[in-house]
Parts: sequence; structure tokens; C-alpha cells
Amino acid sequence: MDKPIDNFWDLNLRELKQKLQDNGFEVHMAESAEAAKDVVLNDILPELKPKTVSWGGSLTLADTGLYEYLRDSDEYESLDTWDKNISNEEKHELRRQALLVDCFFTGTNAITEDGHLVNLDMIGNRVGAITFGPKNVIIFVSRNKLVPDLQRAMDRIKEFVAPVNSMRLDMQTPCIKTGYCMDCDSPKRICNVWTITEKSFPKGRIKVVLINDDMGF
Ligand code: SF4
Repeated sequence: MDKPIDNFWDLNLRELKQKLQDNGFEVHMAESAEAAKDVVLNDILPELKPKTVSWGGSLTLADTGLYEYLRDSDEYESLDTWDKNISNEEKHELRRQALLVDCFFTGTNAITEDGHLVNLDMIGNRVGAITFGPKNVIIFVSRNKLVPDLQRAMDRIKEFVAPVNSMRLDMQTPCIKTGYCMDCDSPKRICNVWTITEKSFPKGRIKVVLINDDMGF
């Protein structure tokens, strides 16, 4: 068999797709980051016709190249909360405004085999937008985010995702020195708000793009 690993994941992602659909999520499949971008541009956005777009922290989203595309497009008004040239105050205000956009893009920290999205935020703007506010949410989910259940999702996030994210963002939290969570009281603590999204309400508001590739962390 050619590409047994991709084949393995394809079978698992197809099962996950069914679970997600049963939970009211709209689901799209893509074989790569580039294909995920194509799915959004060719299938999802022409249907939604959003006027305003924004995004929350996600390396997987960044890896699709969609961020630059949307940011530079004349077709949409984008609220660029990733703009490195604006002040923290401006960024904070944009994050608040982003809760009312037509289409919000992000990733997930983990997804369970039952089709539940599990996330942990520092500020809460990303999980806030997933939960309520934007008319539509598009979530990129690469295959390496799939875990068996909620406990494994939370373990994955606290034992791996959060320390690595702290390191990526130079957060000066204890975990960047130990490599594991110290349940810190640091002012830079990035672990403040958990969400578990079991179902999409209203049905179809959250659109999941499952990607048969390892992306982000
Ligand atoms: S609680 Fe603190 S030490 Fe633990 S992972 Fe989060 S930032 Fe790091």
C-alpha cells in the first residue's frame, strides 16, 4: 500500500467527520494545508459571502497561507489582530471587535474521537469567538490534534501545547525552563480559560476543516 500513514489517518478522520456532523458541525476534508486553503476559498467563503473577517491565534491557520490572503484581499474587511505594528491597546480593541465579525478563523488545541473541541486560552478572545459572537467560525484541525477522550485532550494541552506555546511566545513562565506545567501564578500565564465545545449551536455555525497532515502543535 502506498502512503500507509496517510491512509491510516484518512480512515480515522472519516470516522471523526461523522461524529462531528452528528454534533452539528459542518465538516470539510483536506489533504494538506494548501488544500485546506482551497476548500475555504472555493467552497466555504463563496457560500457565506462574509463582509468582515478576523482570526484567533493558530499556527495551523497561519500555515495554510490564508491569513495573508484574507489580510491583503480587497474583498473583505479584515480585523487584523495579528498586526505586529499596532499597540497592545489597539490589539485589545480589535480582539473585542472581532467577536462580531461575519467569519472568524482559528484552530483547536485538541479534538476528541467523540468530536468535541477542547481549547485553553490566555486572554479568552479565541475561545470566546468559538463560543458566541461571530456569525460563522472556521476551525482548522490537523490530524495530530486527535486524541481519544477529554482527559487525553486536557493532558495534551497542559503537558505539551501550553509549555511549547509559552516558549514560542517567550512568555517567561516556569514551564519554559522545566518543560512541564508548574500550575504557575505568573502574570504571563497562558492557561486561563478552558472551553469544551461538544456541539455546534446553531447547527453548522462552526465549520471544521479536517486536514490529513501534521500541522502546528
Ligand atoms: S499554567 Fe503556567 S507553567 Fe503551566 S503550562 Fe500554563 S503557563 Fe506554563
